[in-house]
Amino acid sequence: MTLLDTLERGLREIDARGLRRRRRTADTPCSAHMQVDGRATIGFASNDYLGLAAHPQLVAALAEGAQRYGAGSGGSHLLGGHSRAHAQLEDDLAAFAGTFVDAPRALYFSTGYMANLAVLTALADRGTTIFSDSLNHASLIDGARLSRAQIEIYPHADVDALAARLEASDAPAKLIVSDTVFSMDGDVAPLARLLGLAERHGAWLVLDDAHGFGVLGPQGRGALAHAALRSKHLVLVGTLGKAAGVSGAFVCAHETVIEWLVQRARPYIFTTASSPAVAHAVSASLRLIAGEEGDARRAHLTRLIARTRALLAQTRWQPVDSHTAVQPLVIGANDATLALQAALERDGLWVPAIRPPTVPEGTSRLRISLSAAHSEADLDQLDAAFQRASLEARECAA
Ligand SMILES: *Cc1c(COP(=O)(O)O)cnc(C)c1O
Repeated sequence: MTLLDTLERGLREIDARGLRRRRRTADTPCSAHMQVDGRATIGFASNDYLGLAAHPQLVAALAEGAQRYGAGSGGSHLLGGHSRAHAQLEDDLAAFAGTFVDAPRALYFSTGYMANLAVLTALADRGTTIFSDSLNHASLIDGARLSRAQIEIYPHADVDALAARLEASDAPAKLIVSDTVFSMDGDVAPLARLLGLAERHGAWLVLDDAHGFGVLGPQGRGALAHAALRSKHLVLVGTLGKAAGVSGAFVCAHETVIEWLVQRARPYIFTTASSPAVAHAVSASLRLIAGEEGDARRAHLTRLIARTRALLAQTRWQPVDSHTAVQPLVIGANDATLALQAALERDGLWVPAIRPPTVPEGTSRLRISLSAAHSEADLDQLDAAFQRASLEARECAA
């Protein structure tokens, strides 16, 4: 067998299991109404929760940033690529999201994936045990693996099971890691109880607020502000390509933690700084998120979430009990999930199927992602399409 034969056989296996992933190409900006693969569609696939990705003020800020600072950063943050725009954004982020610790500081990354690799590899080593929720995001799993720490996976959101494992562990260093809002389920981690355990056991608590930042808490400051938590044990990761509508991510923590990352985090040190124009646009996004417009968008999103919960409860499938913008509908089998996705697509709706390994085997689902860019009329269409598909599935089953 040639090298390519091996890969082709692997790809056929992916097909046979209903796991082939296909990219769709958008010709228009990310918004509720998009042109995708040449067809008009209502999109429920993005993580653009506040509908800011195509906001004119952010587009203008990106252009202004490029005029002022150029297109590229020219280097890594430690070797000439750290611009005034990055420095300003880090100050803005620390002031906005750092309410959970005295002396907060923030560090800006090109992506959330890298921010998670950075935090876990810098705070954990061979002598550490990382306690990780079973539904954590892939980037946290990969960061834990790369750190060479021992990894204990605790059942999803099960604080008692986690407490027992912490109790039984004699590791000299401990780190608890969790999504705040789980990306494929939309539920919120038991943050206060996790923090209680971290403090009792002298552990770091690393929280990934990719789906909470901008949406939860007063002014959208995120899940920690929402839960009104404060502690030196907390290390927060937030991403800036979701509700913030631009791209990148940040780590926020006590200034000593951040200085440690600057010195030791290889995913921070050995990569080119993102374009300063992007950082400039993120600063503009923070002002929108924190202001009246952000409040109005969050209020609209809250109404859309309530209505979506009600309409999903009327289908023949299993909604997840989520109060966030992530509204999953569990179908189960991969082929049935793909069939439902295709039926919705024929109705002009783009609702992505999520399959293993992103979610556990047998829990394939549609992930309806809501955005403040959606209107009530968009939900009317979603409702009608689900009712039609429910009816068809019932007739097939009968
Ligand atoms: C999207 C996501 C990330 C990765 O962030 P990017 O900026 O897209 O690389 C990390 N954690 C969670 C929970 C996410 O949903």
